[in-house]
Amino acid sequence: MVAAGAGRSYPEDVAQRYLIRTYGCQMNESDSERLAGLLEADGYVPAAGTADADVIVLNTCCIRENADNKLYGALGNLKALKDQRPDLQIAVGGCLAQKDQGRIQDRAGHVDVVFGTHNVHRAGDLLAAARHGGPLMEILDASARDDTEMFPSALAVRREVDHASWLTIQVGCDNSCAFCIVPAVRGPELSRPFGELVIEAQRLAVEGVQEITLLGQNVNSYGRDITTARRAGRPDAADHDAAGPAWAADPARRPRPLFADLLRAIGAVDGIDRVRFTSPHPKDLRPETIVAMADTAAVCEHLHLPVQSGSDEVLAAMHRGYTAARYLDKLQAARTAIDDLAVSTDLIVGFPGERDADFEATLELAAEAAYDYAYTFQYSPRAGTEGAEMVDRFVDPVVTNQRYEQLRAVVERSALARHRERIGRVEEVLVEGPSKKDPEVVSGRTRQNKLVHFASASPLRVGTRARVQVTDAASHYLRGELVEVVAPPRHRMRIPVVAS
Ligand code: SF4
Repeated sequence: MVAAGAGRSYPEDVAQRYLIRTYGCQMNESDSERLAGLLEADGYVPAAGTADADVIVLNTCCIRENADNKLYGALGNLKALKDQRPDLQIAVGGCLAQKDQGRIQDRAGHVDVVFGTHNVHRAGDLLAAARHGGPLMEILDASARDDTEMFPSALAVRREVDHASWLTIQVGCDNSCAFCIVPAVRGPELSRPFGELVIEAQRLAVEGVQEITLLGQNVNSYGRDITTARRAGRPDAADHDAAGPAWAADPARRPRPLFADLLRAIGAVDGIDRVRFTSPHPKDLRPETIVAMADTAAVCEHLHLPVQSGSDEVLAAMHRGYTAARYLDKLQAARTAIDDLAVSTDLIVGFPGERDADFEATLELAAEAAYDYAYTFQYSPRAGTEGAEMVDRFVDPVVTNQRYEQLRAVVERSALARHRERIGRVEEVLVEGPSKKDPEVVSGRTRQNKLVHFASASPLRVGTRARVQVTDAASHYLRGELVEVVAPPRHRMRIPVVAS
């Protein structure tokens, strides 16, 4: 059967093939997995590549540097393909779509669909509507959402791997860091109901997932919006009151669930061996969270705690809500309570107004914190943020670049030192698959989130738990030798179906 619309035709009884390109953070990767699940529920099948895709979705991010250039560059490259194959549908979703809205189709008229961060669940419907009615855009603002729309996690999912899964616990952010566009594009903080999260973790465990990463823009303020909802008499507060057995039945429970309660509840789910989370905010790192991390066997010994700067002046200008000393105190408290804790961070150099003395303070903090690894960024202004308005205080890019190289040397040195301390130890490794560089070598992660490459006489399935002795260290990975396989993966093997 052939359907006609807006000058196009396509056979409706042939499965449409989709391709999703993801830019940016783990939240976007998680959204893309949900998007893939939704499209497959609608009958789409994955494409092998751009050439055979009927639908290409660009899931954008506006946090990282040059996001605009990357998007419009990618759209420019797709233009020739669209000219050759007018039936090809191109959709743009995610943060940049939420921010740029109509500008995307103004600049790239060959884009069929633009959708925002709050209506991922509508992608399939929008593609179908555009196929018949021509290009369209749908951007919802926060106030128009219901539960399903708020949380892409509540939607169907096609996970990239079977043994590990994201679990979005919260969306949005109530902070106002001067360099960050997230509050503008993701809206205020909203926490998913506690019981719903526990039930989803139980379902994932039944499917064979062993590792869950709790996702949110500010995970450790989980539940804070519930107090506001109660005060305002909003009905969603009741979702947490009816939060399910794990929390509501606890006689000692708090007036609202804290992130610490959630860590304990997810960590108690049978079959979940590893719980991770990203990203917490240092100002919201409560003692209860540290205690829950220390007490809950499944919670991994890794804390990613983004500091951004070591200068109190710069931290204040960024509106981060803590001083360098307070940050280091919290780090020390976590290291004291949690045995063998690995710590990582994010650092920005060249924030407007950063002087030499401020940068020296960042170097000192990085050296004192002795990070296992750090993501370092050169500041670049994002339109719509406070930092972008501080034009008269912008740091010379040459100076920023020099500082960046200096800082990288410090964090690489400390990462190498931390990794060398592990030589000789036997680590529990969760296998992620063959090494990208050498298929003969197996790669996996320790509980401290360290990448380990090791040889194995026989292939090991993804999700296998093994004990590996560390024999060598570099700043970004460890090398080791297989000691023993502890347990095979718990998920079922995917058996490819071959058409006769
Ligand atoms: S805490 Fe700051 S950096 Fe993190 S998402 Fe919120 S505004 Fe952005």
